[in-house]
Amino acid sequence: MVSAQPRSVVVVGAGLAGSRTVVALREEGFGGHVTLLGAESLAPYDRPPLSKHLFDRPAPAWLADELGGDALALADEVRLDARALGLRVGAGSVEVTTADGSVIADAAVIASGSHAVRPARWEAAATLHTAVDAARLRTRLTPGARLVVIGAGWIGAEVAGVAAAAGVDVTVVEALGAPLTSALGTAVGALTEPWYAAAGVELITGERVAHVRSDGVVLAGGRDLDADVVLAAVGARPSTGWLAGSLPLDEDGSVRVDGNFAPRGGPWHVRAVGDVSRRVSARHGLVAGGHWDGALRGPVIAVRSLLRPASRPGPDDDPAPYVFSTQLGHELAMFGQPDPADDVVLRGEPPTGPSAAPGDGWTALWFSPGTDVLTAVLAVDRPRDVAAARRLFTGPDLPRLDRRRAADPTLPLRGSVTG
Ligand SMILES: Cc1cc2nc3c(=O)[nH]c(=O)nc-3n(C[C@H](O)[C@H](O)[C@H](O)COP(=O)(O)OP(=O)(O)OC[C@H]3O[C@@H](n4cnc5c(N)ncnc54)[C@H](O)[C@@H]3O)c2cc1C
Repeated sequence: MVSAQPRSVVVVGAGLAGSRTVVALREEGFGGHVTLLGAESLAPYDRPPLSKHLFDRPAPAWLADELGGDALALADEVRLDARALGLRVGAGSVEVTTADGSVIADAAVIASGSHAVRPARWEAAATLHTAVDAARLRTRLTPGARLVVIGAGWIGAEVAGVAAAAGVDVTVVEALGAPLTSALGTAVGALTEPWYAAAGVELITGERVAHVRSDGVVLAGGRDLDADVVLAAVGARPSTGWLAGSLPLDEDGSVRVDGNFAPRGGPWHVRAVGDVSRRVSARHGLVAGGHWDGALRGPVIAVRSLLRPASRPGPDDDPAPYVFSTQLGHELAMFGQPDPADDVVLRGEPPTGPSAAPGDGWTALWFSPGTDVLTAVLAVDRPRDVAAARRLFTGPDLPRLDRRRAADPTLPLRGSVTG
């Protein structure tokens, strides 16, 4: 395998992972030539506020203010509104083609992120992934407007909550048995159901949308829901179509990477970070992109391994999957990755009923079936468990906890560690 210090790097994608990559290159002392390509015409901005602050923060949250470094100023060449169309990987160089010509460099970092899924024949539905999408939604969602959100996942729940608070009449339709089922499973996802009624949102679960019109949706069961805006919030897919034929892609379109964010089997001079990547973690197995923290932390590891191939991974180089969300008046933080077959132990009592107020919060703990091996933690309105959960997933292996002690919300979570 050829392996040398690159003198030039092209970063494809000017979102969080791409911007963080440029900042990390300079932080690591890289003095070579950096080119940043981005498909959007805006300077890099943060996506989580697009849903959480759809109405109260209309201007984009610029990443230059949030990352402690301005990728546009740190790169030697920036091309916005320049979508990469193809990648050619040579033995010691890469070539990225765009409509305006190509960029040749010693190394490439792929950070083209993801895009919202819009199923066929759902053209009339809006999606929310970019600042332009958010601006369009904001103008249409005036008080009294009727909004149907398809999908009670992270983004669907967040938009439903802020829209209802802004006086929009909101209905959420979820095909599975409960909100957040794919992330949390049905049992834990169902604990969030009372939040919808408390926020004045109608939640319909276990119902598929059969047809999307510009003025509403028809459910598979026959019910017709009129709407001024239909929002499809049914997930995101890696934006990797432009890599077809140049790198192997997983069935979900992601680039499978090792702990250094290098694609499986090389090449040594390419890395894939953020939402495009699916990383093999020693502690958690396969970790998909799709979350902010991974797009923030991955580039630092990727850049270090690119510039110093002989460096050995450090203790912080296998970050635990971490997702945060503010939805329907509740703060959620999740660490680790549960398996649908895992046992769930609750720590604290989730309030039930339509008046479910945050209270003292509660935490869900997932254990490998029949064992004391902790796979994931979800803290809901319980900040004191967040820091503890973060620390639990820093060792080489998954932590072991005494289930009975861990279930007692009056005892510190860390105190239940057995090994
Ligand atoms: C509304 C919303 C709310 C979110 N809230 C949360 C949250 O609360 N918590 C959380 O953990 N995560 C959240 N996320 C997810 C988080 O924002 C993403 O994981 C993160 O932005 C990923 O960063 P990225 O740089 O990999 O991808 P992206 O942010 O998607 O950026 C990729 C950039 O690459 C560009 N691009 C795409 N294709 C090409 C190409 N061929 N050539 C050049 N450029 C290209 C895109 O236009 C984009 O600008 C949210 C996402 C959205 C959309």
